[in-house]
Amino acid sequence: MAFPDNRQWHEECGVVGFYEVDHAATHAFMALQSLQHRGQQGCGIAAVHPDGSLGLHKGAGLVKEVFKKETIDSLPGTSCIGHVRYPTTNVGGQENLQPFLYTSREHPFALAHNGNIVNAERVKSYLEKRGHLFHSTSDSELFADLVGSNLHGGDWHKAIAQAVRLLDGAYATVILTPHALFACRDRYGFRPLSLGRMGNGYVVASETCALDTVGATFVRDVEPGELLAIDARGVHSTFLARTGSHCMCAMEYIYFARPDSVIEGCSVHAFRRRSGVLLQAEHPAPADLVTCVPESSMSAAIGFAEASGLPLEMGLIKNMYVARTFIQPTQSMRDVGVRMKLAAVPSIVRGKSVAVIDDSIVRGTTSRILVQMLRDAGATAVHMRIASPPYAWPCFYGIDTGTRDQLLAADRTVEQIRDFIGADSVEYLSTHALLEASGRTQLCTACFDGNYPTDLYQDN
Ligand code: AMP
Ligand code: SF4
Repeated sequence: MAFPDNRQWHEECGVVGFYEVDHAATHAFMALQSLQHRGQQGCGIAAVHPDGSLGLHKGAGLVKEVFKKETIDSLPGTSCIGHVRYPTTNVGGQENLQPFLYTSREHPFALAHNGNIVNAERVKSYLEKRGHLFHSTSDSELFADLVGSNLHGGDWHKAIAQAVRLLDGAYATVILTPHALFACRDRYGFRPLSLGRMGNGYVVASETCALDTVGATFVRDVEPGELLAIDARGVHSTFLARTGSHCMCAMEYIYFARPDSVIEGCSVHAFRRRSGVLLQAEHPAPADLVTCVPESSMSAAIGFAEASGLPLEMGLIKNMYVARTFIQPTQSMRDVGVRMKLAAVPSIVRGKSVAVIDDSIVRGTTSRILVQMLRDAGATAVHMRIASPPYAWPCFYGIDTGTRDQLLAADRTVEQIRDFIGADSVEYLSTHALLEASGRTQLCTACFDGNYPTDLYQDN
C-alpha cells in the first residue's frame, strides 16, 4: 500500500488556553512546562494585552529556555494560549512554531493546535490557487487562514465552523481572540483536550497534568467534534461535526501522555499498569526479575511484576540530562543516543534472566541496544515484553514515528523481530488486551492494524 508523503505536515504538540485567569502568561508558562514531554523543539505564548491587542513570544528550545521573567512580563493580561512543539525529522523552521498570530486590523486572533490535518495539502493548494499566501508548512497557519478568511462581520463561531467543515484529520485547537477563548477537537477525537476551572476563569489543556500543575479543577473533556466558546457569558458548547466514533489515539495511553494525566476518564498510569498485567497473562516470561525502560514503561512494568510475582528491579537506568534520542537524523546518531541515555546496572542483572518491559518498539533501535547492554552487563537471558501490539503502520494523526519502511514490525514476523533485536524472546500485547486495558470499546489503533479512521487523501 502506498502512502502519501505528507510528513512535512506533522505536528506533535501540547496546547493550553487560559481565560480570565490572573497572571495568565505565568500560569501558561507553568502549564507548558508540565506538557514539555509533548514537545521540546519550541514553544510560544500569545496573550491578550489589557488594551485588547495581541502579543506573542515564541522561540526554539525548552519552555524554561524560551521564557524568562521579562518575556512573561511582556505578556500581561488574563487570557492567553500556549504551545509546545515536538521535533520532527524534517521540519525545523521558526515559522512553524506556534501559536500562530493572524494579524488583521479588525479581527486579530492567535491559534495553536496539536495534531495533523490529513487533507492539509489539498486544502492548501485549493486556497493557493485562489491567491492565499502561506509562509510556513504548519497546519496552524492553514487553520488560521481558513478562520480569518471566513470572519465576515466578526462571527467567530461561524468562521471556525467553516474551517472545521473543510479540514479532516486530528486536531485539538485553541483560538484566542481579544474577547474569547475557543477550543475544539476533531470529529474523531484523536488528541486529548480537557477543560478546567480556575477561580472565576477557565483553562483548557492537552492533558490534565497541566490543569493539576496550575491548581485548576478538572471540569470535563472537550468532546470529539465539539467547539467550546469561553467568554464573559461563560462556556458555550456546540457540536460542529460528529462521526459517532471515539478514536482517541492509543499511543497517548501507551507512550505519549504523562502517567498522572487522565484522558477521557481513564488514568494513563492505570491503563499502563493494566496493560502490564494483561501482557503477563498473555506472555509470561521465564525470568528472575522484571525491569522497565525508564521511565515511559514504568507503569506497565509495575503491572507485569505484580502479576508475575517477580521482583521489579532497576535493571536499567536513565541519564536524565540527555535529550531525547527518538528523532535523530541518522541511525548511528540514534544508536549513540540510546547508549548515552540508558545504561544497564551490572550488580542487578549479572547472572540473571531479565524480563524487560517496554511500551513500544518502533524502529527497534532502543530494544536492540538495550538487549546488548544487558548481556554485556552479565544478564544470562533477556526476554522483551512489549505493552502494545507490533507497531507496523505509520501514523498520520500527529505522532511522528517514521515511514513504513522504517518501522521494524512493518514486514517482519515476531520471530524476525526477536532475531533483529537479539533477545531470547519477544512478545507483544494483543490489540484485544490493549482495548481491555483502556476499559473502552474504541481507540485509534491504526499504527497496529492499518485501520485508519479517516481518508488518507492518497490522490494528493
Ligand atoms: P525505537 O528505538 O525506534 O524502537 O523506539 C522505541 C522507543 O521509543 C520506546 O522505548 C518508546 O518508549 C519510545 N517511543 C515510542 N513512540 C515514540 C514517539 N512517537 N516519539 C518518541 N519516542 C517514542
Ligand atoms: Fe495514535 Fe497510532 Fe492512531 Fe497515530 S495511528 S493516532 S499513533 S493510535
